[in-house]
Amino acid sequence: MMKLLVLAAASFALGGAASAQTAPLPFTLKQLGPGIYAAIDGPEHQAGSNAGFVIGDDGVVVIDAFFTTDAAKALVAEIRRLTSKPIRYVVNTHYHADHTGGDQVLRDAGAIIIAHRNVRGWVRTNNVNLFGDRITPELKTRIEALPLPDLVTDKDLTVWLGARKVVVRTVLGHTGGDLTIFVPDADVLFAGDMLWRKIPPNLIDGSVKEWAATDADFLAMPGAARISFVPGHGDVANAKDVEEFRGYLLDVQRLVAEGRAAGLKDEALTQSVAPKLRALHPDWTISDRAAAAEIKYMDQELAGTKKRPVPSGD
Ligand SMILES: [Zn+2]
Repeated sequence: MMKLLVLAAASFALGGAASAQTAPLPFTLKQLGPGIYAAIDGPEHQAGSNAGFVIGDDGVVVIDAFFTTDAAKALVAEIRRLTSKPIRYVVNTHYHADHTGGDQVLRDAGAIIIAHRNVRGWVRTNNVNLFGDRITPELKTRIEALPLPDLVTDKDLTVWLGARKVVVRTVLGHTGGDLTIFVPDADVLFAGDMLWRKIPPNLIDGSVKEWAATDADFLAMPGAARISFVPGHGDVANAKDVEEFRGYLLDVQRLVAEGRAAGLKDEALTQSVAPKLRALHPDWTISDRAAAAEIKYMDQELAGTKKRPVPSGD
């Protein structure tokens, strides 16, 4: 008994969320409203991205599945700790493997995989491009075995969990197959990679023009100042963070356009733009690799040569 009490006190001191776990969770669980949780990736990036879940009257909707199956298993364990209601759906905000890598774990836990209709054609193929020169044979095999979504849409959907309404919206900007998930009764928007907090976004499949417009739509939502925004990467955000992120996208666009107008390209363009971007966003973590990639993709978008994933039509 004494031993149990000591253990309970120790886990409480560690924050409580990790109570029954021996290893620390690869994410931090944050409650944003009754039965609504964001699972925020830790500083070690063990989960690969953020996720979350909504507990309704008669079931649970999970938003995204992390990159690693271990993180997805830990998420299922956390849900099980909080409720015995069935895990009915996992909604993928987009096809990128850092958000879909754990889908099979959610499916094994009983979930139907919901995604944008374009995800079926991309999840096992285009994800290889996402890793560029960091792809390994093991990762390629894993990607080729990712489950295909069960239920796809190119329109907005409403998922009812008893009386609890969850609105799945199609949006433009990050990949060409993006969804957001809004819970009106709690003012929570799971934004997927339409929002990154103080971290440079991956523009590989994106259109900055569409993306900035979607972020403007977030800010135009009724009661936007009250909304908790769960980004795809970075901590839970508010409307000010959305504005800051949109400003970052527009800065990338403007600085690259100015560099192009001055005749700069490739390495010279990066050398000119990256320090200006860092000076404008001193509290962001902008690696050389991230800066070079975003500047390259922005340059391609402005030149009209940007390649984006092509829908298969299924
Ligand atoms: Zn992504």
